[in-house]
Amino acid sequence: MTETLVFASAVDPVEPWRAALEALLPDVRVRTPDEIGPGDDVRYALVWKPPVGFFARHPGLRLVTILGAGADALVGRDDLPDVPVARLSDPEMARMMTHYVLFAVLRYARDIPAFEAAQRAGRWHYVHPREAREIRVGVLGLGELGGAAALELARQGFSVAGWSRTPKALPGIACHAGPDALIPFLARSEILVVMLPLTPETRRLIGADAIAALPRGAKLVNVSRGAVIDEAALVAALASGHLGGATLDVFETEPLAEGHPLWTMENVLVTPHLASVAIPASAARQIAENIRRVRAGQPPEHRVDLARGY
Ligand code: NDP
Repeated sequence: MTETLVFASAVDPVEPWRAALEALLPDVRVRTPDEIGPGDDVRYALVWKPPVGFFARHPGLRLVTILGAGADALVGRDDLPDVPVARLSDPEMARMMTHYVLFAVLRYARDIPAFEAAQRAGRWHYVHPREAREIRVGVLGLGELGGAAALELARQGFSVAGWSRTPKALPGIACHAGPDALIPFLARSEILVVMLPLTPETRRLIGADAIAALPRGAKLVNVSRGAVIDEAALVAALASGHLGGATLDVFETEPLAEGHPLWTMENVLVTPHLASVAIPASAARQIAENIRRVRAGQPPEHRVDLARGY
């Protein structure tokens, strides 16, 4: 019997997902909400921030897959059915994220923003490069994406520390865990990379006190969710010079509002939430495998714990 997977995303084009999933699952039709008709038996959903009321229209769902890694957009919804929710777990997504983090950290480690400013002023501005092992990078969150980025930074020779909720052991990385370890961890991080999920515990975790604990002139890279950082405290620290710069891919409100101070700050690089995206060719294999598992009565892999928030 043919089943239907409903695909809902305002940012991802459906066609590559349709092609990749239908090739792997010949008895599953991939439909957008507009394409669904009375003959569709909607069993699976692949979603990125679906509109309010979306799930109530599909009472036969057996598996919801998030078209990404963060579950925050689904937490707290009252229309979510009582079925497993899985995230994408895709090495290609981790690779794309690692590239972004590596770019942002290398840009600071090699003083590139200072050279960009000097060039605009027509000024020859020599800064003697530091060795990577002297540069202390901190990664907040050592999950699938955070762990991969931290390992690559260590492979590049940086002095890397990481912080997570539960204790971790990653080769070449000084691992710290739990709330008491946060401030000492921040105090040693001259480049801080934020890779935490947005949960009730992490919302605005990086506020004025946490930012003050960073060394003066520290650089911050946020690729997780905007609301993990108190944006007003961030702007104040960038304006005062306590923070030397920030590379921001995510914001409390997206798109970043017209006229927001972050748009025009000299020491800020803004990118529009694309540090990593879901890649159909590789991620479809995981989704297909989970559908096979659900059909066989097995629990899907890479489940999100909605009570925990990630
Ligand atoms: P995971 O869920 O795999 O890992 C989360 C990590 O954060 C874990 O190490 C976890 O600790 C840690 N953590 C969670 N809560 C706390 C807490 N209260 N205190 C300390 N540590 C905590 O996430 P990923 O690495 O896959 O992704 C991270 C985030 O990146 C996603 O949630 C998403 O929001 C964002 N993202 C952004 C993208 C972009 O384009 N900008 C693209 C994809 C993802 P523990 O290991 O102990 O569980």
